[in-house]
Amino acid sequence: MKVARFHAPGDLRLEEVPEPVARPGEVKIRVRNCSTCGTDVKIYRFGHHHIRPPRVMGHEIAGEIVELGEGVTGWSPGDRVQVIAAIPCGECEECRRGHRTVCPNQESMGYHYDGGFAQYMVVPAKVLAVDGLNRVPDGVGFAEASLAEPLACVLNGQELARVCEGDDVVVVGSGPIGCLHVRLARARGAGRVFLADLNAERLAMAAGLVRPDAAICSGETDVVDEVLKLTGGRGADVVITAAASGAAQQQALQMAARQGRISFFGGLPKDDPIIACDSNLVHYRELTIVGANGSSPAHNARALRLIADGAVPVADLITRRLGLDEVMDAIDVVARGAAIKVTIEP
Ligand SMILES: [Zn+2]
Ligand SMILES: [Zn+2]
Repeated sequence: MKVARFHAPGDLRLEEVPEPVARPGEVKIRVRNCSTCGTDVKIYRFGHHHIRPPRVMGHEIAGEIVELGEGVTGWSPGDRVQVIAAIPCGECEECRRGHRTVCPNQESMGYHYDGGFAQYMVVPAKVLAVDGLNRVPDGVGFAEASLAEPLACVLNGQELARVCEGDDVVVVGSGPIGCLHVRLARARGAGRVFLADLNAERLAMAAGLVRPDAAICSGETDVVDEVLKLTGGRGADVVITAAASGAAQQQALQMAARQGRISFFGGLPKDDPIIACDSNLVHYRELTIVGANGSSPAHNARALRLIADGAVPVADLITRRLGLDEVMDAIDVVARGAAIKVTIEP
């Protein structure tokens, strides 16, 4: 079968390898869609300390079951499934307390295990053990189902930031994650949703699809001033930074309303993670700053439901479909931000 394997930073190879076999407790799937994101670009360029090459990349996975390993029950060949990306251990103190997104023993598809840039893939027993294999509801395509994983991360972020009815929400960063944040905030009953980005072209493309109440080009205007103007000086109830930008995080504090919540959804570069925080803003305005680290298996199941119910449409966000042979083009398109969501159909 064909796979795209990471060998070293800048060295991703299209290779022919034997099909994997489902061992006891595992499930083998025919990958139908594996979508790409900024993480794939980062891995391609810099590698990752959890990846021991060669490793098949790809973590936004949907496909159909072709073979069951010994002892697997409840599934059949032909079942359409979506696979979680982050695998909690299910046994540590955090997992026992229900904090599965921050399991210190977390492993990931495409990092510790071969991922979905392949014609076939084995779902590890550990995924099945934590209910990380989800049945794709009728009417949901494989490409849409593959977006359940990023949507699950967005859902985790908005739960932690308590996005609720009537909230004015600012999303900073108009990539695919920013688009999902706008859609989910709407589904949760947000009042107004504003979308900001430095890049006017990317912002226009995203805004054309997800239709925020205002699109703010932070390359051309002062985003803090603009948000204060739009909210009658009050600021936003929730500010979500879906960009790897310390400046955006600092601005987020300044544009939050009293008792506002700020989600540092996107992480910062490892070598530059320190920001200046006006602690008195946090103190007097009773601000809450929250992080977000991936998603739990339960978030994936709920995200799939949101897609199936039409609460969060995702089909129109998939603007490029490429074959496995074109994986390098996919990485390049994602790196340039030239599409909203790019999916690989192996
Ligand atoms: Zn991703
Ligand atoms: Zn754990």
